[in-house]
Amino acid sequence: MDILVVGGGGREHAICRSLSQSQRAGKIYCAPGNAGIAQVAECVDIGVFDFEALTAFALEKGVGLAVIGPDDPLAAGIADAFEAKHIPVFGPRQNAAEIEGSKAFMKDLLKKYNIPTAAYETFDDYETALSYLRSQKAPIVVKTDGLAAGKGVTVAQTLEEAEKALHDAMVGGSFGAAGSKVVIEEFMAGEEMSILAFVDGETVRAMPAAQDHKPVFDGDKGPNTGGMGTYSPLPHIDPAIIERSIEEIIKPTAKALVSEGRPFTGVLFAGLMIEADGTPRTVEFNARFGDPETQVVLPRLQSDLLDIFLAAVNGTLADIEIQWSDEAAVCVVLASEGYPAAYPKGRVITGIEAAEAGGGLVFHAGTARNTEGELVTAGGRVLGVVGRGAGIAEARDAAYAATERIAFDGAHKRSDIAAKALEPRR
Ligand code: ATP
Repeated sequence: MDILVVGGGGREHAICRSLSQSQRAGKIYCAPGNAGIAQVAECVDIGVFDFEALTAFALEKGVGLAVIGPDDPLAAGIADAFEAKHIPVFGPRQNAAEIEGSKAFMKDLLKKYNIPTAAYETFDDYETALSYLRSQKAPIVVKTDGLAAGKGVTVAQTLEEAEKALHDAMVGGSFGAAGSKVVIEEFMAGEEMSILAFVDGETVRAMPAAQDHKPVFDGDKGPNTGGMGTYSPLPHIDPAIIERSIEEIIKPTAKALVSEGRPFTGVLFAGLMIEADGTPRTVEFNARFGDPETQVVLPRLQSDLLDIFLAAVNGTLADIEIQWSDEAAVCVVLASEGYPAAYPKGRVITGIEAAEAGGGLVFHAGTARNTEGELVTAGGRVLGVVGRGAGIAEARDAAYAATERIAFDGAHKRSDIAAKALEPRR
């Protein structure tokens, strides 16, 4: 079966790589893809919002499945566009993707179905929001309702900081329409964890848990990024906490979406906060694979990814076996100088083959070929370098050893990815 993957980052590289190992996969197309994806799929120069061209391409090539990577096209209804043309699609319809596209929708859903999350209020009027905020205590969290590329959230340590975030979003228009509505939320203290799950309707098949590192510098310093590194599994977290998260948060949420007439097909991604007493609460839901969580989770998948996607699309996810390897995976992101602020592009990248020859898996996030055919940087996050091993310590050493072989001017990485996993179990 031929497949069309939509997207062009490290996540889509990991998806295409796993699909390329499938027994049943024929040709894999990726739109728009990137220089690394081109090694395992045929890249097609169509943008992720060009639903007309994407569906026309899928029909012309007779693809049997479309797989949607990024959040924005899902929120804009890409799955509905494929369905309208009778092309099977792995990814939620617009009405189910709203769980990520609107934080107010997500919070209201969780509240209605008593699913654990931080207390909150939603506002579309600045003055009302401001007077509510002034009645609260810091720390407090201000979030734009709509998608803002991970930048619409301010965890404010003081009320002044929260007021500024509110003003920027609702008056300053920093986030456009996404900020015309805001959620003001109770601060939750604790440790974060991500659990991704394959979902069809009420059936939830959780993947192994992972942890991301959002801030750009070691010790969680500096501004938040799209993610500087991940690892899986989480040996320092009690498996009972992971189980509770699936039973008390992810399964009830999938069920709630069905009850609301918005059944979810695709990957439901729960961002969770584990509080001091071990109670998990919901930080956020995403409606797609995480990036860079996917880069450490999918390499641990031993079953056929295409079989899983097709089972989800056909509503038979409950019936299939899904096997995961016990080995650990650690992903260290190599980012461009200056990221997450402005960064240069076009810097020549060397050493990927050497890193791969040493056992590293190198996922391309922001890469391209220049006119001379050289591999160059083309994004803020450039590469996700994955090491694997019997445990986190081995995987971490392998990942960092692989990054040492890769070079481009101004490359930046964190040096403490997965360090927390080596601490005693909580
Ligand atoms: P992304 O999709 O990039 O993760 P987002 O814009 O959807 O980001 P959230 O995941 O809701 O935003 O929040 C981003 C980060 O802010 C979280 O990973 C968490 O570290 C922090 N955060 C959000 N809400 C809270 C909260 N109530 N208490 C404490 N920290 C929070």
